[in-house]
Amino acid sequence: MSPFHHTLAQLASLATIRGNVAEAEIWSRAIDLVRAHHIESEPDAGLFLQDPPPGLDPETLERLRRTYEAGGWVLLESGLADLPADLRWLFESGAVTLEQLATIHRELGVTSAADIVDAVREQKLRILPGIDEATESAVGDSLPNLRTRIPRIPLGRAVGLVVRLLASLRAAPGVTWVAPVGSLRRGQDMVGDIELIAATDQPSAAIDAVLGLPDSSHVLHRGERRLYVTTNHVQIGVRLPHPANAAADLLHLTGSRAHFEALQAHAASRGFSLHADGLRANDGTLVPASSESDIYGALGLPLIPPEIREGGEEITRAIRGELPVLVSRDHIRGDLHMHSEWSDGRDPIAAMVAACCALGYEYMAITDHSPTSAASRNLTIDSVKKQAAEIARLRERYPQIVILHGCETDILPDGRLDFPDEVLQQLDIVLASLHERAGHTPDQLMERYAAAMKHPLVTLITHPTNRLVATRSGYDLDYDRLFDMAAETGTVLEIDGAPSHLDLDGALARRAVAAGATVAIDSDCHRSDMLGRQMNLGILTARRGWVERRHVLNTRSFADVQAMIAAKRASR
Ligand SMILES: [Zn+2]
Ligand SMILES: [Zn+2]
Repeated sequence: MSPFHHTLAQLASLATIRGNVAEAEIWSRAIDLVRAHHIESEPDAGLFLQDPPPGLDPETLERLRRTYEAGGWVLLESGLADLPADLRWLFESGAVTLEQLATIHRELGVTSAADIVDAVREQKLRILPGIDEATESAVGDSLPNLRTRIPRIPLGRAVGLVVRLLASLRAAPGVTWVAPVGSLRRGQDMVGDIELIAATDQPSAAIDAVLGLPDSSHVLHRGERRLYVTTNHVQIGVRLPHPANAAADLLHLTGSRAHFEALQAHAASRGFSLHADGLRANDGTLVPASSESDIYGALGLPLIPPEIREGGEEITRAIRGELPVLVSRDHIRGDLHMHSEWSDGRDPIAAMVAACCALGYEYMAITDHSPTSAASRNLTIDSVKKQAAEIARLRERYPQIVILHGCETDILPDGRLDFPDEVLQQLDIVLASLHERAGHTPDQLMERYAAAMKHPLVTLITHPTNRLVATRSGYDLDYDRLFDMAAETGTVLEIDGAPSHLDLDGALARRAVAAGATVAIDSDCHRSDMLGRQMNLGILTARRGWVERRHVLNTRSFADVQAMIAAKRASR
């Protein structure tokens, strides 16, 4: 094979992997032409193109011209940049040639590392034409590196990227259900691959729906039942299985891998075998499953919520019938932390109230920042009074919801609060926050927290670790002591749903409720249109921490919330 011939073969392979069969055929015809006319190199192609013999297929000639003018490698480089990321990295790892990758894709339909893992495990590569055992094991060896190359993005950003995609898929004809998979569905705070599943018997209509969106026009791969696009430079995969086997895909791709493997072991102990394509009985027949519950049910288990599928104790707990019923959106009756234009929020209080009413809340709290907070705008003592008057007017306008006048006060470096008690006791609820580390050691930070928690007017500690999801880890505190102190003082700890916070995270929330602390799931929202989404992020995070309705303050009636605030205030 001449070098030029090889370049064309690689371009044909790229078109195959991207799912563009017609394009791949044109490249193949170009290869035949090159072979027939003994074109060995790009200069040869240049001479040929100056005076091509009459009657040649213009599309084929156009491919030769492009390869000659752009240079084959330039086309290859840009083609590689446009592949689904896992396939590109597999090629760049050197484990396979593009031709081998095209064969693997064409024969097995793989488009992601998850697919490749299964193909290697089931030794499906070595039987393909042009691929041997050595190549299969080279692919297997490259997989761990493949996973580390996935750029993780914050959960909140990932959710934002798929909102419109999910809605357009849901509205597409033939689609029965839609769900994200992987770390996104499990609510991990940093998300790897973004993939969605839409169960449908009309995949092309679903693909048209996605491609009709203005920001997802860049297609990396289009197959009959798979689509990869980029939105704001992030790759999003969409799988479109038939409803009859979609539940198996959902279970397998949701993972985590550790959970799936533990489930495979459990299946084996009950005489089944669990594979990527579903659950098989002893005799190899596929157990029909229209939902994940059917698969768990066949294994004698209740549906295990995606957020706790971490491969830890969830399966043994499920076997014993000890899985908790996790808190969910229907349980939430109010939102106790949000900002308005009185501090660094975007919207007037009226807009926040209207949005909370639309979400069906029974109560809400406006909690703007205190005077020396680092927020871009803060309340002053004087503005607290004016804000109270505005809230009084809004209570008349919106009798259907209880509007609490609160604040999020900083805990100052000496442990005092950023408003005098005379001001705080006028408010309906006081949230306290350790926004500023002030160069303190963990012990000093703990003393500040202790002072705030002992303060009778402080109901709730916001985002207790003060981490920022993508950029800053939380305070290195003795959290068991903090959680004990919260339980002892009757102070509520927050699970903050703002995308940058998600704080407490699932693991800490689990320890907090185990220590007997009450938590609140708040939006900490700064704009009315995000109140619902941020509450949902908080709920996802709480569910990762096995948090139940009974642990969460804002699943309770307003009378109970008021009683909790009053009980602590009475200790003055
Ligand atoms: Zn805050
Ligand atoms: Zn806040």
